[in-house]
Amino acid sequence: MSTGSAHQHGPAAGQVDRQAWGSARRDVRAQTKNAAARILCAAGLPVLSRRLRRRRLTILMYHGVETEPLAPGCWHVLDVGALRRQLEYVRRRFTVLPLEEALERMYVGTLPGNAAALTFDDGTRNLLTHAAPVLRELGLPAAVFLATGPMGTDETLWPDQLWLAFARTDRNEIDCGSEGIGVLSLRNDGERAAAYATTVEHLKDLPDDERLSLLRCLLAMLAPGAEATDPGPFQMLSWDEARVLTGNSRVSLHPHTVTHPILSRCPDDKVDDEISESCAALERELSCGVNVFAYPNGRAQDFDERAKAVLRRRGIRWALATTRGLAHAKSDPLALPRIPIGGDLSFAGFRLLVSGAFPATRERADRKLDSAAGAGRP
Ligand SMILES: [Zn+2]
Repeated sequence: MSTGSAHQHGPAAGQVDRQAWGSARRDVRAQTKNAAARILCAAGLPVLSRRLRRRRLTILMYHGVETEPLAPGCWHVLDVGALRRQLEYVRRRFTVLPLEEALERMYVGTLPGNAAALTFDDGTRNLLTHAAPVLRELGLPAAVFLATGPMGTDETLWPDQLWLAFARTDRNEIDCGSEGIGVLSLRNDGERAAAYATTVEHLKDLPDDERLSLLRCLLAMLAPGAEATDPGPFQMLSWDEARVLTGNSRVSLHPHTVTHPILSRCPDDKVDDEISESCAALERELSCGVNVFAYPNGRAQDFDERAKAVLRRRGIRWALATTRGLAHAKSDPLALPRIPIGGDLSFAGFRLLVSGAFPATRERADRKLDSAAGAGRP
């Protein structure tokens, strides 16, 4: 792998054309999707879908919340205006329950119709400053999943380190050809967002030690010799702030590992340590029992039976994935689906998603994964 910048040489013309064409295609696809979502909403699909799925539990998954969308774009950070509009809608259309109560009632069959629960992963400080005031004002309960390692420090989680490096680099391109990623052009926010998305997805699929090593390499290429920098929108909560969060709003706190690795890519001892130490930190700092866990990244391929065995041993009753779907009484309690909400979602798209009106092919695929994980059919 080598580094490059516009001062040395620009990206190959073919590469730039491909990147520009890819970006234009994504824009057209997003516009078409938004237009289709608006038409489906106007036709009443969310109402119909909620009626058909009223016995299921909609678990929404958010991450950080900022006042404005980030530039370059970052899927997992939402602006507070969008959050407020979405939560006002959820409060009107759903019965929002605290997560543990919702799960308990789902499995004993006393869930109210159109039940929902709100979750926020990772534990960035902006949950206290931007999300909690909205939750408090709307009187909504929420569950926050904490990656406990960087709490109270200026460290950030590894995907966020990468975003910060792409956002702040003075390079105009980097060459990751030898890693199978290719040359990444970084001349504007659109290219930087695309480069971040490409590399973060690549890293997620690597064995844990290779992920860490390539991450170090990418960070060095993007900011050679840089000292630790301002964590910006990814500043993590301290334990004191986490306690304030639970004290002044209806927020419950739960573990989400220590360093946010992809558990299925870790050796056995790391799987155990990451889960056990984050549970122990919660118990120690908050003097509370731990019943629910959320897998980092949470796709079906991101956790396995080894992680579930550790969770069982720790007495964890429920674990949340990020596979898109609505939960029901026959869902695997250690692989519960959620509705991931990203910053690129239009309001019409949001209404369809939370109502369970997403493409049948995806839902069928999720059900297949549920079955493969040992759960029954809905
Ligand atoms: Zn996470």
